[in-house]
Amino acid sequence: MFFFFVGSYAPKLSRMISSPVRCPTCFSPTVYHYKVQHQLSMFFIPIWRTKSKYLWICDRCNWTGSSRPEEQEITT
Ligand SMILES: [Zn+2]
Repeated sequence: MFFFFVGSYAPKLSRMISSPVRCPTCFSPTVYHYKVQHQLSMFFIPIWRTKSKYLWICDRCNWTGSSRPEEQEITT
């Protein structure tokens, strides 16, 4: 018996409408609020989705946090 399965299980990121926040690691204002949802799809059709969660992710250094990073004063 030949079993053929074309499927994928990948996280889906959607950026929430929010103003960027300064990153605590690389100090660039590129941290955005994302909605993360894992999605199981077969033949490119979504079959099942997990409960979504919300993360703050930096586009530059990939810093990830579950809460909004605090605004930090940069002292030189
Ligand atoms: Zn960063």
